Amino acid sequence: MSWRPITLVAVLCLALTVPGTAAADDPPPEVEQRAGTRAPAEVHGLSEPAQAGDPVAAAKAHLADPRYHLDPADLAPLRTVVDGADETVRFAQRHRGVPVFGAHYLVHFRKDGDRREVVGAGGRFLTELTVSTTATVTGKTAARIAHTTMIRDHRSREGVTAQDAGLVVVPGGAGQLAWHVVLTGRDAVAKKPLLLDAYVDAHSGRPLFAVDRLRMEGPVTGSGQTAHGRTVELNAYERADGAYELRDRTRPMWDGTDGEILTYDAAGRTFFDFFTPGIPEGTELVRSATPVFGPEHTETGAVDAHWSAGQVYAYYRGLGRDGLDGQGGTMYSVVNVTADGEPYTNAFWDGTKMVYGGGGDYHSFAAALDVVGHEMTHGVITHSADLVYIGQSGAINEGLADYFGNAIQVDTYGIPMSDPNASLLGETLCKTAPPEECAGRDLGDGRVAGEDYLGFAVGYDNGGVHYNSTIFSGALWDVRETLGGAVTDRLVYKALTEYMTPLDDFVDGRRAVESAARALGMSARDKLTVARAFDRHGIRPGWERALRTDSRVLIDGITDRLARPDVAGDRYVISNTSPDALSPSVILTGRIGGGKPVRLSEGERWNSVPVTDGRRAAWTSFDAAQEHYQVHVRPLDRSSPPELVFDAPSLVDSVAIDGDTIVWDGVGADGEHGVWVKRGSAAPVEVTAEAAVHGFSPSLKGGRLAYERYWTEDGALRSAPAVVDLRTGAETVIPMPAGSWTVKPTLTGRHLVWMYDADDDGRYGIMRAAPDGTRRAVVVQDGPQAPRPNWFDANDEVATLGLWPDGSGNEVSNAILPKIHQVPLGGGTPQRYSCNRGYQDYFASGEGRTVVWLDGTDGNTDLVTRDRPAPRCRTGS
Ligand SMILES: [Zn+2]
Repeated sequence: MSWRPITLVAVLCLALTVPGTAAADDPPPEVEQRAGTRAPAEVHGLSEPAQAGDPVAAAKAHLADPRYHLDPADLAPLRTVVDGADETVRFAQRHRGVPVFGAHYLVHFRKDGDRREVVGAGGRFLTELTVSTTATVTGKTAARIAHTTMIRDHRSREGVTAQDAGLVVVPGGAGQLAWHVVLTGRDAVAKKPLLLDAYVDAHSGRPLFAVDRLRMEGPVTGSGQTAHGRTVELNAYERADGAYELRDRTRPMWDGTDGEILTYDAAGRTFFDFFTPGIPEGTELVRSATPVFGPEHTETGAVDAHWSAGQVYAYYRGLGRDGLDGQGGTMYSVVNVTADGEPYTNAFWDGTKMVYGGGGDYHSFAAALDVVGHEMTHGVITHSADLVYIGQSGAINEGLADYFGNAIQVDTYGIPMSDPNASLLGETLCKTAPPEECAGRDLGDGRVAGEDYLGFAVGYDNGGVHYNSTIFSGALWDVRETLGGAVTDRLVYKALTEYMTPLDDFVDGRRAVESAARALGMSARDKLTVARAFDRHGIRPGWERALRTDSRVLIDGITDRLARPDVAGDRYVISNTSPDALSPSVILTGRIGGGKPVRLSEGERWNSVPVTDGRRAAWTSFDAAQEHYQVHVRPLDRSSPPELVFDAPSLVDSVAIDGDTIVWDGVGADGEHGVWVKRGSAAPVEVTAEAAVHGFSPSLKGGRLAYERYWTEDGALRSAPAVVDLRTGAETVIPMPAGSWTVKPTLTGRHLVWMYDADDDGRYGIMRAAPDGTRRAVVVQDGPQAPRPNWFDANDEVATLGLWPDGSGNEVSNAILPKIHQVPLGGGTPQRYSCNRGYQDYFASGEGRTVVWLDGTDGNTDLVTRDRPAPRCRTGS
């Protein structure tokens, strides 16, 4: 049964009408195309003789056929998977020698003795790449750009370092040459570790996107059984000095590749120490004086981690795989890590090893076999389809980790699939909470793509990889409930290792599973079970249909991840790129009342953070020499060309404009973040020239400038709103208590309005004052119930803020995404503004109650507007 429109390619049909190659009841070969490339997404039903000998050479010879439209010289072999008579060769695409992000292509053979036959091929190969692979931006510059632009909160940048890691070609149209930059450190605001793979255009310097490498699991609430009282056999190693360590050399991989299972005790060291590949110096294998590893090793999680790693190895061995990398490579686990001495209740796979924390109400995260299986499956995925940890491919990655994690647990413990806890992930982690409360996710939650997909912006949970995973894994788990573990695990494993590719979306993932089912020769009835499971979870072509909204679209399809609107009167300004996100971003302006936006910026520079006073726009750009930032100004009516008003050696973060005055913030020649003001044709003056005074987020109105002022006092960092009277130069720093944080002081004309966090809990109150800083008043009180904003703006009438709703811990719905609220400056409770169900991101406050914002509800990001708050939203929206 075909579930997807099939495009038959004429050449292929001709090539395949060779008499006698197909039995009478074989369906004809089918080809599925992929938009934007001439190489087929999938070809199946082939039956063509292939070269004997080296499978890589045989696969390349097959792909040399013109119907594939690809040059085998551009294919670098990754690995060959053998599954009984099936042999699959996986390649990664190169463009002029540079790796192409996420482009894998596979060839499927069937072997019968020495005879080898091609039965199919497919994946992702980009035939239209023409981009030059000579970088004009240096790796060092790219690293600096990634560091400043990819980390949204400047307080988080302090503890993060950036390192360039080589060139890649990013897919789309002609392709885009990019520097891969690795950002490592600690996010001081989110208070969690950070390990990002960022990509910066190597020709324009424009930041493209970032992928979170840490497979952090979502917060798991609750706790379960005793830890867990089960006596297990540990494969340990007796050292020459008579001590025993957790070193397992009994696995088949030890004979082949010297692969071992090693378990280390971090002895409470902080998790940051374990980010670099491998095991840091000074970390010891778990050791005991006797072969009985005592209660102290139960407490740290060492016993569980070591035993469970062995179970995971044995499970994948049963599927024909030798270790996580499939090559018998050593499997590393580290237990007993903390968050700077505090309990670190999480676990992660960093690409080379497992790291487990625990404490408080939680056992070690190694104490749940499904969690161990989940994390280690990320290792298997890395070494097979390598699904990109972002959006739908990221959700499939998470979903497969959950599927196999749970499969390993139920098989190892003999739990029947009908057990209500079988579908729960991490349900045994808790010391006291019951399983259903302790579990992080439930593969039986019955979520359906169209109804339940969460419209995350990519800045949060990589576009919802943990929150959307059960839509896909739920379908697989349904199949397992019907067809059983033996058949289904093999099916899913085959799909992962022989059909999926890094950028697969849900529909691609379904196709991979159905292709694997066909390759396994599953019965029509079983294939129907698979199809129905995906249907039930809404995974069908075209499921991302438009959803209802209560806003008016100003620009359909914002593809610039740095886009942020500004508004004055009826005019808005925003940056955007082309629909394929390949062109340098341009500055657009339009009227909130309607009409087509027009372009303000010129040339091929990357343009960003536009602002307007209703008459002119100001914005920043990266100059043609790739080493300088610039500030430009242009009238909104385009009566004169853009005027260059400042040329800076380093990044300009934000700009504000009012009449003939322009202010901006960025990093100066001294390496410190400051605020500059330029009045008319005079040279710019740094407002924050005083040593060790930093400034951020300037605002400008009525002859005054306001900014976030940071300075050190008595060894502690302080912040407060500062107002400068531009006529006299007098500066007023509004007194704020030590330990409180100030964000985005905004001059509205009649008021100065800002957010403050007095107790450093990420919740913010709102204050206002007269523009000269006098007559201070609280609009919304800070405290444990205060709002958790993701953005903020104000006018003379209202403060507008994007709020993370306070939800119950495990609730998964669009209701947990940030929504715009408004509160009158006279005080009150912030009220919901639009009932759109998805992510309501950056916004600007216009006249009266008008707001212009970026909205993720209807399947992509649009610039939208309303002119008044929504009367009442249905629950769940
Ligand atoms: Zn995961």
